[in-house]
Amino acid sequence: MSHQISEVNVAGIVEELRARGHRVTPQRRAIVAETLGTEGHIAPQAVAKKVSERVPGVNASTVYRTLELLEELGYVSHAHLEDGFQYHLVGRGGHVHLVCARCGRQEALPVEKTVPFKRLIEKHSGFSPDFSHFSISGLCAACRKLQDSR
Ligand SMILES: [Zn+2]
Ligand SMILES: [Zn+2]
Ligand SMILES: [Zn+2]
Repeated sequence: MSHQISEVNVAGIVEELRARGHRVTPQRRAIVAETLGTEGHIAPQAVAKKVSERVPGVNASTVYRTLELLEELGYVSHAHLEDGFQYHLVGRGGHVHLVCARCGRQEALPVEKTVPFKRLIEKHSGFSPDFSHFSISGLCAACRKLQDSR
């Protein structure tokens, strides 16, 4: 079922790219399909690697450009994590990335949980923060326990 939906989306997006004057190659179609089929985040390098296992002749610049186009069209959003740029499907990026500075463990916190802090900052300076765009560094629960037991 969900497979069918994503097939429709891929075809629709490929059509949209073509209608906007972008060349649609098998490589580009595979990049769109790989990105849309990913749960969670995917890095451009991982998209390139996975796509090149199925379609030859994928170069990094095509991957970067296609991901940028998908973002311009509103299908994906990017975040800056410890290991670089990552893309999410729009609608699945609504979380804050927490990264443990000690063990590297990554966790996701629903962005709704940060609303009180967001309101606080808005009230103080009028600035509206986007906590989901960069990862937040700190200590995970296990590392905190280790630290406390010292
Ligand atoms: Zn994420
Ligand atoms: Zn950015
Ligand atoms: Zn940790």
